[in-house]
Amino acid sequence: MSDGVFHFQIGNFECMAISDGTFVYTDESFFVNAPKKRMEQVLRKYDIRSGEITTPWPSLYINTGKNRILVDTGAGAGIVPGAGKLLGILTNEGITVNDIDTVILTHGHPDHIGGNIDASGKPAFPNARYYMWKDEWDFWMSKPDLKQLKLGDELKQFILISSQKNLPPIREQLVLLDNETEILPGIKAIEAPGHTPGHMALAVSSGGEQLLHISDTVLYPVHMEQPDWYPAFDFEPEQADDTKRKLLDRAAAEKARVFAFHFPFPCLGYVISKGNRWEWKPIETSGAKDYL
Ligand SMILES: [Zn+2]
Repeated sequence: MSDGVFHFQIGNFECMAISDGTFVYTDESFFVNAPKKRMEQVLRKYDIRSGEITTPWPSLYINTGKNRILVDTGAGAGIVPGAGKLLGILTNEGITVNDIDTVILTHGHPDHIGGNIDASGKPAFPNARYYMWKDEWDFWMSKPDLKQLKLGDELKQFILISSQKNLPPIREQLVLLDNETEILPGIKAIEAPGHTPGHMALAVSSGGEQLLHISDTVLYPVHMEQPDWYPAFDFEPEQADDTKRKLLDRAAAEKARVFAFHFPFPCLGYVISKGNRWEWKPIETSGAKDYL
């Protein structure tokens, strides 16, 4: 086993959470509308005192026996120190870029599409069909100005440049989705807009087991405990709230295992319903926390 990887099964599917790297976000960007004092109180319970929230950037790898699937491609090399580990980990695990036949992109933010292409600008997974929600593709191709996000201009610029760099080169290999179809047997797309206009979640099922990949529907367990607080990255906060309620209620009702992209590695756990809010119960792991 290599560093930054966590192996698990969903029924007959062999899976890995693979951390491409980690990044430190500010508490203001994660909880943009939270009252400052209350936020500091809540974060103290999570041992966050400096206002800095470290989260992983994980891809989900699924080997169904027939297909080898990668969900999101991380931030890629050269963006921040310590990111771009995905390909090295795949190699350590005996998987080459040619082995990946399916790449599913949950949305077009830099930490999810940064590994789409290689150093020469060509698709990093030459044999893969890439999948993305159609609204998401159309949004980024329209060169949006992101004016409504309460983020610094430099960061907005960075997000836009990343989308222009990492999306057009995959066009020839891309399939756009506009309904909740089964991408492959056991891998179903779920429309989950709000964080971005075409943000997508996934239901992965095999042998009676289910995993809900909720990507950036919520960015941190605090967003379950304080459901009214939303991140500055959410493009349509009200729509994101609807999506959050729909998916978290479903996860709780179905007792599904959940993969939440920015949650403490390996990003796996269960959602417990608490009336109007939810609680995150991470799976039991040994050693997985070492990567944060
Ligand atoms: Zn993200």
